[in-house]
Amino acid sequence: MELESIKGLGEKTKEYLNKQNIYTIKDLVGFYPYRYEVLSPEVLDNTSKETTITINAKVVTEPTTAYIKSSLNVLKFNAETYGKVIRVSIFNRAYLKKSITIGKDVILTGKYDNIHNSFTASNLKLGILNDSLINPVYHSIKGIKNPKNIIVEAINYIEEDNNIIPKNYALKHNLITNKKALEYIHNPKTIEEVEKGRNRIIHEELFEFLFKVNYLKHLKDKETGIAKNIDIELIKRFINSIPFKLTNDQLNGIKEGLNDLKSNKRMNRLVLGDVGSGKTIIATTLLLANASAGYQGVMLAPTEILATQHFKNLTKYFKDFDVTVELLTGKMTKKEKENVIKRCESGEVDILIGTHAVLGDKVSFKNLSLVVTDEQHRFGVKERDTLKLKGNKPDMLFLSATPIPRTYALTIYADLDVTEIKEKPSGRKDVITKVKKESELKDVLLKILEEVKLGHQVYIVSPSIEETDESIKSVYNLKEKFDIAFHSKIPIGILHGKLKKKEKESVMNDFLENNTKILISTTVIEVGVDVKNATVMVIFNADHFGLATLHQLRGRVGRNDIDSYCYLICNKEVERLNVLEESNDGFYISKKDFEFRGEGDIFGIKQSGDMNFNMLNLKRDYDKLLTLQSNVKEFISSKDYENNEYYKNIIKNIDFYN
Ligand code: ADP
Ligand code: MG
Repeated sequence: MELESIKGLGEKTKEYLNKQNIYTIKDLVGFYPYRYEVLSPEVLDNTSKETTITINAKVVTEPTTAYIKSSLNVLKFNAETYGKVIRVSIFNRAYLKKSITIGKDVILTGKYDNIHNSFTASNLKLGILNDSLINPVYHSIKGIKNPKNIIVEAINYIEEDNNIIPKNYALKHNLITNKKALEYIHNPKTIEEVEKGRNRIIHEELFEFLFKVNYLKHLKDKETGIAKNIDIELIKRFINSIPFKLTNDQLNGIKEGLNDLKSNKRMNRLVLGDVGSGKTIIATTLLLANASAGYQGVMLAPTEILATQHFKNLTKYFKDFDVTVELLTGKMTKKEKENVIKRCESGEVDILIGTHAVLGDKVSFKNLSLVVTDEQHRFGVKERDTLKLKGNKPDMLFLSATPIPRTYALTIYADLDVTEIKEKPSGRKDVITKVKKESELKDVLLKILEEVKLGHQVYIVSPSIEETDESIKSVYNLKEKFDIAFHSKIPIGILHGKLKKKEKESVMNDFLENNTKILISTTVIEVGVDVKNATVMVIFNADHFGLATLHQLRGRVGRNDIDSYCYLICNKEVERLNVLEESNDGFYISKKDFEFRGEGDIFGIKQSGDMNFNMLNLKRDYDKLLTLQSNVKEFISSKDYENNEYYKNIIKNIDFYN
């Protein structure tokens, strides 16, 4: 239902809400408080001026107002609380002047300074507070003073129940209705109400999520694909031409993939392996196999840098093989793009490598039948599946370095077959990792010098491009500092997302060809970038990054059998950083990160839009997930969803993407 339906909601308010991505009543009631304030009336004695308290008071003087700036005014009056008269001031409440008359009871929240006998209030309500009062606290919405009022009004327009949890299961788990839950969340009288409300919403998010994955699995189990006629001799010849010896896990991954391609069941496979475990070559081999059967394939990468790198590598690998590989990225010229698109359409291109640009409407294929998505957690379900529609029941292969614990993987990727790559290519050494304070930078500089002298290269990563905050070392700022430190004698490149495509390419090329020795960059190099000669990774303001990101960044070095180093620069004591000193194992690190921060960004999935949970926290609520899992499976196998409007609707959308 649209926001307009709410009586008394003005155009202006609607605009403010839209800016916050709130477009419907459902969005609005889903704007949950991020915390609750519990206010209990206190007496002034014994309170320190640092703590926020709530008191009951009676107004004893007419209030005065003073305008300090156009955006700042102050309202002042005296009030009596438990026999003591105090001076009260509150900012930006001039509009309350008329309602605060002598004799009125007010509830004040704020801080009391007993030396000056002054109370600086942050909140003022009329009335007397007897028991405690629970105040939901919302993230602010520009232009709206108290979102609670509008939200509570909007709840009136919500149906009693939304059937996201079918009634029999709601009963079984003792859950209140959706509407009741919203009332309890936005307008609670007790903490118990908040808990009950949240419990219902968490169950809703879980039920829906589990429904989607299990239903997809159910659909995919029935899917047929093309049984491909692969030139096995060619594949053997290719594997022998690879300049390194494949690990057993890689060979196994290739074998599983080939079986999928040959079978008439459609491939839906996830290759899960830590950074540097060598997933690319598996996909490369399968793309060749697919081409050998006479079909086109696509490899989708999340960044231009990565797509370009894949393009170069594949072109090199295939130099003695008769396959045509092309690149398509958004930043190519119109003409270049048109040319590639035409040749995809005609079937001339066997393998297309690209970024999001490949998903565009204009791109079509003659007979696309294998879609590889690299760093799949960077893409949303819709994006990934758009490509499906461009092909004829294409086989789908996903590559992911998101090292999630296996149990979680099995529930999250319930709809996929999972190939795990555990073994690292032989000769790989752990990256020697140290957390350092800025004051210890000298050690780091010496190591950089030493490595550069050995002919090796260095990455330096900063969280920001330009200086916004003094405590953060920006890319440009670091360039200056390193130029000074090395007397401008070491060639340094700069890379970040705001550079033009051509600039990025030439910076990356200079680094690849060892013309620049140091690359100062933002996290654009986080995924996939592969320069074997790089041996040092220095990350400034390391506390700004999650463990998963740091581990990925570190994965840019140690891609060879020579010793590599990673320095995490951080002036604060941040316990989680020690985990990286301890271990190079992505799965261990993810487990630790999980313990430190709940699901956090370790899944990397959050950003992808697959799992945008509002209240649910997979780690905390994992037990609930396990209990619901069997309910959801039963709901699907009994086909009860066919009588549920909500899920019928979801299925319509899922169907579209399959
Ligand atoms: P990721 O799994 O992170 O995508 P890549 O596929 O980029 O890893 O591989 C990392 C590096 O290791 C690449 O330079 C690749 O050529 C190299 N590599 C892959 N497999 C092997 C192997 N079996 N032996 C030696 N080097 C390998
Ligand atoms: Mg990769």
